[in-house]
Formats: sequence, C-alpha cells, structure tokens
Amino acid sequence: MTKKNVMITLDEEIHRRAKELQLNISGECEKVLRDKVFNKIHQEEETKKCHKCGKSSEEAGELIWLCPDECWCCKDCINREVQKIIIGVVPT
Ligand SMILES: [Zn+2]
Repeated sequence: MTKKNVMITLDEEIHRRAKELQLNISGECEKVLRDKVFNKIHQEEETKKCHKCGKSSEEAGELIWLCPDECWCCKDCINREVQKIIIGVVPT
C-alpha cells in the first residue's frame, strides 16, 4: 500500500499528551480514518436495501427514500402498501 504524506492540525494539548503517551500520531489518525471510511461504506451498503423486503437495488431496481420513515423502499413494496391504503379507503 502506498502511503501519502499529509499535514494535519491538532489541538496543542492533544498533541502534547499523545507525544507523552508515545502514540504514533500518524498511525492513530489512519486507524480512525480507516474505521470511518470503511464503516461508512458498509453503512451505505446496508441502507441501500428495501426496509420492507430486504431486497437490494440490484434485485429490486430503483429504491425510493421514504419520509418521514427515513428508509429505503422498493417499488413493489410501495405498490403493495398503496393497494392496502386504497382498499382501506374504499367505502363499503
Ligand atoms: Zn421491498
């Protein structure tokens, strides 16, 4: 893996304490960033599944973001829910 030299800015006290603890600042920063980057990717993959049936966008086609539920839903599940609502409001 190729490493890239970057400059970061740290709070003076954090820098001093990290040095006292003989922490590898570069290594510690990379560890935190690696965790954030890969967890974010993992979370994005998880959220791109239908909340109702669990199908991914590859299986179900386009997923739609529902508000205020704040979840992804496939068109099939939305259509099923819409039919329930339509059935529910038809006067008997
Ligand atoms: Zn679905």
